[in-house]
Amino acid sequence: MRLLPAPAGSGIVFRRTDLDNFEIPAIGRNVAKVSYATSLMRQGVLIQTTEHLLSALIGMGVDNVIVELDNLELPILDGSAQPYVDAFSAAGIRTQRRRRETIRVLRAVEVREGDKFIGVYPGSGYSIQYAIEFPAPIGYQSAFVDLAAETYGVAIAPARTFGYKADEQRLRDMGLIRGASPENAIILGSHGPENGPLRFADEYVRHKVLDLIGDLALAGKRIEGHVVAERAGHAMHTALVSRLLKDRSAWELAHVPVQSSAAEAAPANLAGEPLTSPMLMGV
Ligand SMILES: [Zn+2]
Repeated sequence: MRLLPAPAGSGIVFRRTDLDNFEIPAIGRNVAKVSYATSLMRQGVLIQTTEHLLSALIGMGVDNVIVELDNLELPILDGSAQPYVDAFSAAGIRTQRRRRETIRVLRAVEVREGDKFIGVYPGSGYSIQYAIEFPAPIGYQSAFVDLAAETYGVAIAPARTFGYKADEQRLRDMGLIRGASPENAIILGSHGPENGPLRFADEYVRHKVLDLIGDLALAGKRIEGHVVAERAGHAMHTALVSRLLKDRSAWELAHVPVQSSAAEAAPANLAGEPLTSPMLMGV
């Protein structure tokens, strides 16, 4: 995988270098199927597991970038967005001339499904309130994050994905989590994480915030508003994106007094192994 700078206004665009540089913009229209991860598809070409990279890009304020991939799946790395953030920091982020364009929420848009809920509301900046309730040992956790406070790299990026040991075989049988291992996910036994220590006491809900930021990136532009999620997941996150985009009276395109940013150079070698030190290739 390689990231390249892109002109202001181009957004986040995936490019399959193994398929004649076929491009798939990271926008709601291209959301394919959503279960344990979020995938994009355009004209039958698939990109899987987009959420952690998209989260890191939005979290670090990158609006415009080309993401080159030579296969259909993004690397899981250590199960968090930290390796991406480290790579961006090492490569640099360039401020562009044009002002950032956002989707400014004008009135509430909500999706409810049983006891799952997600909604987005007017608000300055971009903030998220998330509550989860999982079987033991996680239980109930909630978190509030205000991205305007520039806490993403410290508070959210390091939070890893997680899975229950008890579900492992069933997920493998379904062809999911083929590459899951203690190196790229928190593995939960009945008494707690089997590959601790945790990076945060509430690492689980922080990871859900990470996923949400990545999935809402599929609105195509950074959201300006306040998001509330309870027991949600990728399917609810992307359902909110499509409901928001469809309801043209619920938002407006706004130019905020922040210059847009492009990834400056190319994190290479973001494949397979967790990165201990970012290895970068200039452009
Ligand atoms: Zn995740």
